[in-house]
Amino acid sequence: MQITTKTLLIMAFELPQLGYAHNALEPHFDARTMEIHHGKHHAGYTSKLNAAVEGTDMEGKSIEELLANHSDKAAIRNNGGGYYNHCLFWEVLSPNGGGAPNGDLAAAIDDTFGSLDGLKEKFNAAAATRFGSGWAWLCVRDGKLEVCSSANQDNTLMPGVGCGGHPIMGLDVWEHAYYLNYQNRRPDYIAAFWNVVNWDVVAEKYAVAK
Ligand code: MN
Repeated sequence: MQITTKTLLIMAFELPQLGYAHNALEPHFDARTMEIHHGKHHAGYTSKLNAAVEGTDMEGKSIEELLANHSDKAAIRNNGGGYYNHCLFWEVLSPNGGGAPNGDLAAAIDDTFGSLDGLKEKFNAAAATRFGSGWAWLCVRDGKLEVCSSANQDNTLMPGVGCGGHPIMGLDVWEHAYYLNYQNRRPDYIAAFWNVVNWDVVAEKYAVAK
């Protein structure tokens, strides 16, 4: 590639580093799955997203802007969605996760879903009933918490996905996220997720989004 002033000025999207080791979420999420999921799947979305924007008038736009205004283009929808969704996913996981949220987020969960168990029931149902590949989301829309799911690498920042708001927690329910360890047992994988949720990060995102 010829290096020009333009290429030097424009920051490409980068695969974020995980804040923990591949095996840190075991036994809930296994090391091999984490390694392939981050190092192959997320890396693939990232490089394909960069290829899709390079040399176009989308170059230099934020990922949020691309999802909101350019998700009519398949390459942006699939790879931009994949890039954003996995960045969020790694952030809301932690080896010290699980338990229960506190503060404003806990109060909002109680207010909207009755209890943390009420949220889990609704979120589990959204994740389990999403047919094929997709994501389950906890979002903030107009200041209120909302649970929904979307297909493929769609997310709630894209117009017209059928659910909306700003995502503050997401669960990947593509088979690549769980098949090595859980095979067809998606509900077991969903149940395991609650042991590694980083509620501190979800609470920070809630504070910003509301
Ligand atoms: Mn994935």
